[in-house]
Amino acid sequence: MLKSKNIKFLVVHCSDTENNKILNARNIHEMHLGFGWDGIGYHKVICRSGKIENGRPEYWIGAHVKSKNEISLGVCLIGRDKFTQKQFISLERVLKKWKLFYPKAKIIGHKDIGETKKTCPNFDVISWCKNKNL
Ligand SMILES: [Zn+2]
Repeated sequence: MLKSKNIKFLVVHCSDTENNKILNARNIHEMHLGFGWDGIGYHKVICRSGKIENGRPEYWIGAHVKSKNEISLGVCLIGRDKFTQKQFISLERVLKKWKLFYPKAKIIGHKDIGETKKTCPNFDVISWCKNKNL
């Protein structure tokens, strides 16, 4: 069980799939089942169209950032390094809502946290948030 008071990080990811590939939360769910996980590891998925889809419920510990899953929520943008304007609008919406519930949580990119060699989500989340006043 993920306790809301423990949430210190809101982590932005990308699916690291071809930018023009249309995928949704169900596809990611199937992908993660294939890794032997308990289904989708993220809490939210943002499709290329900007559609926001649910992954794990927010009370369920995610599987998206090594050693920090107990203290974070994860949102995943579908794509690799070129995201659509609609995706960024939706990302802002998701993060603003999360900030209402978890005002002390810090928004970061996957690459900014934990033990990873990944460059996910392939843009500078911290600077982007500053521009958006998040
Ligand atoms: Zn990631």
